[in-house]
Amino acid sequence: MQYDVSQTNVLSVNAVSFTYQGARQETLRAINDVSFTLKQGEFFSLLGPSGCGKSTLLRLIAGLQSPDKGVIDIHSMSNTPRKVGMVFQDLALFPHMTVAKNIEFAIKHMPRADRKTRIDEVLHLVRLTTKRDHYPHTLSGGQQQRLALARSLAPKPDLILLDEPFASQDVSLRRSIRNDVIDILKQSDVAAILVTHDPEEAMYFADRMAIMRAGHIEQIGTPQELYQNPMNAFVASFFGDINIVEGVIEKGFLNTPVGVIPAHHFQEGANVQAVIRPEAIKIQSHDPAIDHHSFEHAHTHALLRHTRYLGQSTQLSLITKDIDDGQAVTISLNARIPDMPIDANTQNDLYDIFVDNDQVLLFEKK
Ligand code: ADP
Ligand code: MG
Repeated sequence: MQYDVSQTNVLSVNAVSFTYQGARQETLRAINDVSFTLKQGEFFSLLGPSGCGKSTLLRLIAGLQSPDKGVIDIHSMSNTPRKVGMVFQDLALFPHMTVAKNIEFAIKHMPRADRKTRIDEVLHLVRLTTKRDHYPHTLSGGQQQRLALARSLAPKPDLILLDEPFASQDVSLRRSIRNDVIDILKQSDVAAILVTHDPEEAMYFADRMAIMRAGHIEQIGTPQELYQNPMNAFVASFFGDINIVEGVIEKGFLNTPVGVIPAHHFQEGANVQAVIRPEAIKIQSHDPAIDHHSFEHAHTHALLRHTRYLGQSTQLSLITKDIDDGQAVTISLNARIPDMPIDANTQNDLYDIFVDNDQVLLFEKK
């Protein structure tokens, strides 16, 4: 019978928790009830802020630490024991060994003839055949990165774990090195987990991804699912320069510094956060004739203090009047305003600000 690998999980992480014990008996729950699975050949990103537990989770999967609760299973596709490869941020290459010896170190257990064949294969895969007798310090950053990858692929692992592997690369080269490594990985038919705090990197890499916060997975899905349907403002905040404004529900509407937004499915008095993407905001010179009341747009007007050009979007610093008590408040908005050259001359002018309500995500603040 044909073995349907597409349906097979390489990894299952089931209700896993892990607690660090401090020197003075204090404890820190670094991983809290985490569950997810990975299919063969699937690429998965773990995205989250520094200290949220990404590296700890990776070490648990690698078997370098053991969970206090829950179970981690790695299913080998071959009949050999499970194999996990790791690539760390510092790459951990051996400086006194040649390129070939660095790779051979990872497959010491193989018969000598097989070792030579496998070294040739992975050197070819990562395009380092001509560098086999060179030492790591003579390689470029991208070549070192590919060597680290070759070494982790040499034992033919079922799963590769990458812990912020591109973090030490120069910004200007980072993207091309990263794309190169990912393309090589895709050719090797291995499942992989990439840990990163860079959303673009996570999205580029992932078939599916998870957003972590404080030891917990907030949401799992494809990059598109998470971008389009974030379950809270925290998840949404990972994707670009979003704006978050807060307010209180009054008679089915949310009062915010950028205007009134319809919010019928929230209870009276609820504290609600509105997540507004830059593309949802329009700004134009103030026109007193404009009707301020619309279900399609939240609207307010404000003084423009200054603008900062950020490439994809422009950051506007505005002074508006708070709706409740008429107090002036300063707000900062990231808006995408490609056609509107705002320069120093327009400062302190009054502008109309419109927010497309269809593009606003509302979350109750707990
Ligand atoms: P990330 O990789 O997302 O930055 P880590 O997994 O390294 O996060 O750390 C998660 C939490 O566990 C942090 O609060 C960190 O300070 C703590 N931590 C990490 N390693 C240890 C350790 N060896 N002993 C005690 N606490 C640790
Ligand atoms: Mg880390």
